[in-house]
Amino acid sequence: MRPDILFPLFAPVTTLKGLGPKLGKLTEKLVGPHVADLLWHLPTGIIDRRFAPEVANAPDNAIATLTVRVEHHSAPMNPRHPYKVRCRDDSGEIDLVFFHARGDWLLKQLPIGQQVVVSGKVEWFNGMPQMAHPDHIVPADAKGEFEPVEPVYPMTAGLASKVLRKAVASALAAAKDLPEWQDAAWLARRGWPSWRAALATVHNPQDEADLSGMTPPRGRLAFDELLSNQLALALIRQHQRKLSGRSVVGDGRLRQRVTAALPFALTGAQAGALEEIYDDMRADRRMLRLLQGDVGSGKTVVALLAMLNAVEAGAQAALMAPTEILARQHFETLTPLAEAAGVRLAVLTGRDKGKARAAIHERLAAGEIDIIVGTHALFQEDVAFRDLAVAVIDEQHRFGVHQRLQLSSKGRAVDVLVMTATPIPRTLTLTAYGDMDVSRLTEKPPGRKPITTITIPIDRLEEVIAGVQRKIAEGARVYWVCPLVEESELVDLAAATDRHALLRGMIGERVGLVHGKMKPTDKDAVMTAFAGGGLDVLVATTVIEVGVNVPEASVMVIEHAERFGLAQLHQLRGRIGRGTAASTCLLLYDNPLSETSKARLTIMKNTEDGFLIAEEDLRLRGAGEVLGTRQSGLPEFRMADLAVHGDLLAVARDDARLILDRDPELQSERGRALRVLLYLFEREQAVKYLRSG
Ligand code: ADP
Ligand code: MG
Repeated sequence: MRPDILFPLFAPVTTLKGLGPKLGKLTEKLVGPHVADLLWHLPTGIIDRRFAPEVANAPDNAIATLTVRVEHHSAPMNPRHPYKVRCRDDSGEIDLVFFHARGDWLLKQLPIGQQVVVSGKVEWFNGMPQMAHPDHIVPADAKGEFEPVEPVYPMTAGLASKVLRKAVASALAAAKDLPEWQDAAWLARRGWPSWRAALATVHNPQDEADLSGMTPPRGRLAFDELLSNQLALALIRQHQRKLSGRSVVGDGRLRQRVTAALPFALTGAQAGALEEIYDDMRADRRMLRLLQGDVGSGKTVVALLAMLNAVEAGAQAALMAPTEILARQHFETLTPLAEAAGVRLAVLTGRDKGKARAAIHERLAAGEIDIIVGTHALFQEDVAFRDLAVAVIDEQHRFGVHQRLQLSSKGRAVDVLVMTATPIPRTLTLTAYGDMDVSRLTEKPPGRKPITTITIPIDRLEEVIAGVQRKIAEGARVYWVCPLVEESELVDLAAATDRHALLRGMIGERVGLVHGKMKPTDKDAVMTAFAGGGLDVLVATTVIEVGVNVPEASVMVIEHAERFGLAQLHQLRGRIGRGTAASTCLLLYDNPLSETSKARLTIMKNTEDGFLIAEEDLRLRGAGEVLGTRQSGLPEFRMADLAVHGDLLAVARDDARLILDRDPELQSERGRALRVLLYLFEREQAVKYLRSG
């Protein structure tokens, strides 16, 4: 239960004064649903109104605060022309300019003959200064009515900055002092203020330097957030550790059959990872291991062998994929190997309904299925296993910690192996997985040909298409990816549909289209056609997983490559270069490119090393964006920026460990304050693991 003290912060933003339903909706869209979300919405700039020159000396384009006398008003004859108010001081004249003005209201604000203070942007036209729609207009004796330095917040269309600033101020007023959850000595050493004081300061920057993540108040708030993250993960781990595990040791007979049936030998990295996994499974505590391996590094076969180890021991195994398509694909890849081993394999996704679904449920419960592959349909409540011993989660960042735990609660002492395809920098691993054990597949299977990556501006599209046609004539198959650009999926869909039509016109009938809005069966039909060679080109939006394994595909075109996260580009590119042919990746970009975008595309051109790409991406862009936030299952930090606060993460982890060593149930005074912290950052899931949560 959320502590009472936090109630005001978890009221809907719409309850704040000045935010009705409409503005409330916009605010909610911008910052999040709760009053607390406004607190986390940090200013990214300032407007300094302390500059108060004489009118004649106010520079073009500068924000200035002017004390002037109102001379006269001139309302336009034509309502499309602006309303002007001529003002002056001793140095000269200035026009205040208003479009769609209401004369009576302006006469009240700017009475003729009065001294007023106006603040806004000065612009010079034909030797005459103007100020269009001043941000502030107050009587000369009421200058204190606006802030000399205003914070500037990230905004959304339709929401006035004044409204948002007011809302933030109300949120700050709702934020009361909270019991201190940080160690006093540590705070003193860093020179960090209390939580409440830190908030007040970060929302009231006085100069540009105050906006840096390095200031004591920003550091403090970032550390609060990191500590809540690490403490939550440590609690989950503590809970997992307490659950007794079981020792799973197979006799090797199934694994032998499968290894014999494989057309290749395991790489050293695969064998090493398997040893670590078998050791975990043999131990009588729960396995909680992360298998990190670049795209194409061969995680699937590692997963299969781990699952067979459980089946040999008479138990069941589950493999969960983030999307329907990936689940089906795993199923297809595993089918011949399962047959070779004589293992009963089945697939279960949201698409299986009615009798078919019931039949699978029954067979699972009866133990007539050894390995089940599926989507999150696997951890629905009505799914029961006879004896689930190991759950493999091929997550590609799509599942949260919570979902992982749900599947592991399906059996007694289920061992969990999480596979991630995107190489995550070490710092990020820590935020998402805390103390999980990690195996890394650092070596690629032999025989892979390097991929040639080329960057081309989109205005050379015709050349690109001609090149693609040449490749097709040589027998290549081509992925053509249209990115998720707009917030609306429909707009993206239109872009992909247009591209599909254009390519059909130029290349011919053998161009397919697949996107997230298609019916699963239609999607499958297109995918199967592409995989089987019935299509030369597959146009796809990234809403769908371009996760099919088509070794014959050797060309990948990615439009608007500059809008993708590097990790995502890397993932997509990993779909080619799997066969025997030399592969080419064409990254199309739109000019002008920012310096960062240029640097990022250059990295893609220069290396195929996923870990290197991930580290560089983190360095260039900051953690929030590295994985394409919305799709990533990684926590999104509001106050912490790992590019700036990365070194605090390890401190937070050590602190979290120490805290739980001393006070495993968070019952001391600090422990109780830390509970408040967990709730504050909405990590109540973790509080549930406490005895008196
Ligand atoms: P990912 O790690 O991206 O899931 P996959 O498991 O899909 O990679 O493997 C990619 C391809 O490499 C598959 O076609 C797989 O059969 C092949 N592969 C896996 N291990 C080896 C190996 N040791 N030697 C050669 N090819 C391998
Ligand atoms: Mg895979």
